[in-house]
Amino acid sequence: MMALDVQTTTREVFVNIAPWMRAVFFVMTAASILFLAWQLDRRRRLWRKAHRGGFERDWRVWVRRLVIYALAQKRVHKKSLGALMHLLLSSGFIVLFIGTTLLSIAYDGPYYFHHGWYYLIYEVTLDVFGVAFCLGCLLAMFRRAFAKPYSLGHNWRDWWLLSCLLAIGLTGFLIEAFRIHFTQVQPWLAHWSVIGSAIDLTFLSGLSLGTARTLHLTTWWVHAILVSAFYVTIPVDRFLHVFTGPLNIATRPNRPMGALVPLTMEEVEQSGRTGVAELDEFTYSQLMSLDACMECGRCEEACPAFASGKPLSPKKVVTDLRGFMSLGGGNVHSVIADETLWSCTMCQACVQECPVLIGHVDLISDMRRDLVGEGKLSGPPAKSLQQIGNQSNPYGRPNAERLAWAEGLDVPTAETNPHFDYLLWVGCAASFDPRAQKVARATVQLLKEAKVNFAVLGKEETCTGDPARRIGDEFLFQERATTNVETLNRRKVKKIVTPCPHCLNTLANEYPQFGGDYVVQHHSALLAELIGEGRLKAAAPDGEAITLHDPCYLARVNGIIDAPRAVIGAPNDDNYREMPRCGKKTFCCGAGGGRMWFEEAPEERVSKLRAAEAIETGAKTVATGCPFCLNMMSDGMAGTAGGEEVKVLDVAEVLLARQKRSGTASNT
Ligand code: SF4
Ligand code: SF4
Repeated sequence: MMALDVQTTTREVFVNIAPWMRAVFFVMTAASILFLAWQLDRRRRLWRKAHRGGFERDWRVWVRRLVIYALAQKRVHKKSLGALMHLLLSSGFIVLFIGTTLLSIAYDGPYYFHHGWYYLIYEVTLDVFGVAFCLGCLLAMFRRAFAKPYSLGHNWRDWWLLSCLLAIGLTGFLIEAFRIHFTQVQPWLAHWSVIGSAIDLTFLSGLSLGTARTLHLTTWWVHAILVSAFYVTIPVDRFLHVFTGPLNIATRPNRPMGALVPLTMEEVEQSGRTGVAELDEFTYSQLMSLDACMECGRCEEACPAFASGKPLSPKKVVTDLRGFMSLGGGNVHSVIADETLWSCTMCQACVQECPVLIGHVDLISDMRRDLVGEGKLSGPPAKSLQQIGNQSNPYGRPNAERLAWAEGLDVPTAETNPHFDYLLWVGCAASFDPRAQKVARATVQLLKEAKVNFAVLGKEETCTGDPARRIGDEFLFQERATTNVETLNRRKVKKIVTPCPHCLNTLANEYPQFGGDYVVQHHSALLAELIGEGRLKAAAPDGEAITLHDPCYLARVNGIIDAPRAVIGAPNDDNYREMPRCGKKTFCCGAGGGRMWFEEAPEERVSKLRAAEAIETGAKTVATGCPFCLNMMSDGMAGTAGGEEVKVLDVAEVLLARQKRSGTASNT
């Protein structure tokens, strides 16, 4: 190979383009970029209609999120065609965009650096990522033409955009090939422009220099016009997310997934509402997030309400609100039906899936609060709220009966054992629901067996307020939260253990908003610890096939995945079967978001879908770790073929039953 001469390793940037053409090009490009900027500013002015900001202000959070979700695209990575397509398209787009910007800086700036090794590496890099870009476009077209995933949505604008992008990529390579041909670049140098050189050697060998020059000019104009057309198209298409996606990723508020935002009396006095009814009552951050949606449909695919035929698609909530914002707003309930909002189980599957971190649940919760404030909640869910207000539990039972489940177990209370290590927060379900009471009993027996120093609050415990907050009665929730925090602090509680993931979520993630800071553990986490320390005997598998249904608020929302498996001995059980949707990707049972208290037609029950999935594994026992999942899964089994042979048990019950079978349980 010829020795590298740094002075000659460059190329003329506007070769073959007359000065007047360059002037036209600059005017055209500047006009399209100005149009883009004007359109983006129009969107920004729509977001600014919001009275509140709601942005994350910590720049370290911005950087971390941008690296994880925008650069590494953590949420996009799946073993799927769509993920590969997005990776190719986005990496190609980003590198080509940076490359073109660097070239403009080199050409227009005071120092021309586009030469030498920099130039050679630049040429190879842009060719490699140009190929990735074109392949990404082709894969996207293939998906739309043949795979046609329903949730993706299909319209002519997608075809225009993809054709435009592919044509930009291909004309870029043709321009390179024609330039190499008519400028007769030395072969060793031309080879650094891998694709252009290959096209030249393969297809252009017989082409005259004059024809190559003409074709170069023509292709250059086509390329330039397409790029300008692309800039103009961005704001009216899903491609807008290349700007708004990273913005939303960086700046969406940093809160635990399971924590909703408190509403203050000042806010209610200012707006005269307890939630959001007008578009401008959302936060600036929420309105901006609507424009970040790329309409990929991941949220819809994961949504249990959508899957069970209810009138809710999280994607449609976002795109309907966005369309509504574009038209200038008004009352949100004219575009989002009440039934759509009530259908949400707040399982957070949509939030977990969204690649640009849109907070669907916050949007739905804000609109639900308004419905409740306007008195639009009726029937059983309204009654359950009333009962939380009157009896401090949604079951409507006298709170004095809170310890009825513990009869004969000699359960210590905070009064009889004030120096406890753990407070056992029983929760309303395990206190009053006959099926869930058995879970409380099993948990107590195991804690006693392990000699854990614990106590319960008894009648001092009241509903955490979780159902009230999810349904939309924020002030009823706050009343419960402040009362419970006062009790917990008075009893000097440091560590809490609970068999209910909804109580766990509220106590751990929402009570800090009201001055309650505790170490909160799910009972499966403590039981797994006790087994690990040898304080509890891990009972041997019983030879029967078993699976685990991960409760949404345990696995997805609070990341507790291994502990329930450890309690039922899954890692050492050859008969343990994992469901296809498990861990953070678990599928809701249908009880969350206050749906436990709504009436539902049997054919629309989410629990039936989940029960069928569990039956498919061939398991004869479905273990879980939530009193509501226990109820819903039992209900789902009852109405599903094959379900009558399947037992639904809490992990504590599984452990205790296996211990008893193998004779290792104590007789407490
Ligand atoms: S939280 Fe769950 S039910 Fe509600 S919209 Fe999201 S995925 Fe659907
Ligand atoms: S909201 Fe998020 S997950 Fe749903 S379609 Fe839009 S970008 Fe995709």
